[in-house]
Amino acid sequence: MRIVIIGAGFAGMYAALSAARLREIKGASPEELEIALVAPQPTLVVRPRLYEPKPETLTAPLLDVFNAIDVVYVQGSAEAVDTKARTVQIVTAKDARKTLPYDRLIVATGSRLFRPNVPGLAEHGFSVDSLEDAIALDKHLHGLAKLPQSTARDTVVVAGGGFTGIEAATELPSRLRAILGKDAKPRIVIVDRGAAIAPDMGEGPRPIIEDAMRKLGVEGRFGAGVAEVSKSGVTLSNGEHIEAATVVWAAGIRAAPLTQQIPAERDNFGRLLVDRDLRVQGIPGVFAAGDAARAACDDVGNYALMSCQHATRMGAFAGNNAAAELLGVPTRPYHQKGYVTCLDLGGAGALFTRGWEREVTMVGDVAKKTKQEINTVWIYPPRAERAAALASADPEHVTDVSGFF
Ligand SMILES: Cc1cc2nc3c(=O)[nH]c(=O)nc-3n(C[C@H](O)[C@H](O)[C@H](O)COP(=O)(O)OP(=O)(O)OC[C@H]3O[C@@H](n4cnc5c(N)ncnc54)[C@H](O)[C@@H]3O)c2cc1C
Repeated sequence: MRIVIIGAGFAGMYAALSAARLREIKGASPEELEIALVAPQPTLVVRPRLYEPKPETLTAPLLDVFNAIDVVYVQGSAEAVDTKARTVQIVTAKDARKTLPYDRLIVATGSRLFRPNVPGLAEHGFSVDSLEDAIALDKHLHGLAKLPQSTARDTVVVAGGGFTGIEAATELPSRLRAILGKDAKPRIVIVDRGAAIAPDMGEGPRPIIEDAMRKLGVEGRFGAGVAEVSKSGVTLSNGEHIEAATVVWAAGIRAAPLTQQIPAERDNFGRLLVDRDLRVQGIPGVFAAGDAARAACDDVGNYALMSCQHATRMGAFAGNNAAAELLGVPTRPYHQKGYVTCLDLGGAGALFTRGWEREVTMVGDVAKKTKQEINTVWIYPPRAERAAALASADPEHVTDVSGFF
């Protein structure tokens, strides 16, 4: 029997760990139940940190972890899924093709930035969405140091005033100063179609974010979208032109395209609709987790967000449940009642909220310390030691934030 997991992000990593944990508990051998994980690289890209400097350092190796828990790593990209024949078509780095049959499949392919058809965006827009994008932005910022000082050189327009846009924008004043030196006059402008900053975060956090923007000199343009991007800057839908050598697009993400290979219902973000055990509805043998899945977190109408907090725990339940079905033991319904957010505000500290209403419970340096701990410890893979790695993956305890309640 074989479980195939597609994706080595937060959801895929915990799906593998959790399936291996249940296999061990039930005394099945790796020959009786093979767990195979397909991804282009055996590395966790620490996406939540990609707005930071030195993005090339923001990965964590996974091969030793997989070896320690007898998970088979398959290098490649899944191109097609045949849910009737129960096979996955994989293309390797050397362009070879292979077919991997599965008894249970876990789609954990995550998400990617949605780039709308705005003129000039594809040629001139940067992002902090993927490792490659974040490295390209960093290289571009360093390249600016070779240019003479000018308003355009020192200006960055960040399109999107949500979570990612705010973290990228508030980090940029100090990042630009470090790169461009003391003569630089960093100007950061967040543009969002909504009426105010952080449209999805609610009223509680907004004054703190606005205060941080004031302290850092980050400007906002609201109620207008980016109509055109060019080498010299952006033109907004209200006609305003902002001279800027750098444009960072942070306005919306969608599930990765592989979800389209599964003939099932998806939401507006392209996420597969799953039941409480994280099975894709109507497709036997297929589970989905993380940014690729739309799952209910509780019985009162809260749904998992495209966040690492949800992806990690969903991965652990999906891995457990796929293994449980094959080992003939009961599955465990996914539930995630506690919800917290921690938003980095660069040189102005951070912001911590509790609950779905996002009640602000920490700000400034205390919240920043928590953010640093999340970013440098909590979201990293477990040690590559069998017992410790398997113990880290009990679904009931993965991303348990009850300590904050
Ligand atoms: C700048 C930024 C800041 C963020 N901040 C936060 C934060 O503070 N808190 C938070 O909770 N979340 C945050 N997020 C969101 C978080 O990073 C995502 O929700 C999380 O990465 C989702 O995990 P995942 O495992 O579903 O997908 P991903 O981490 O996207 O991993 C997907 C994996 O699937 C692989 N893959 C994709 N397609 C294929 C294929 N066809 N074949 C094989 N492999 C494939 C990829 O290579 C990758 O290994 C942030 C994201 C960004 C970009």
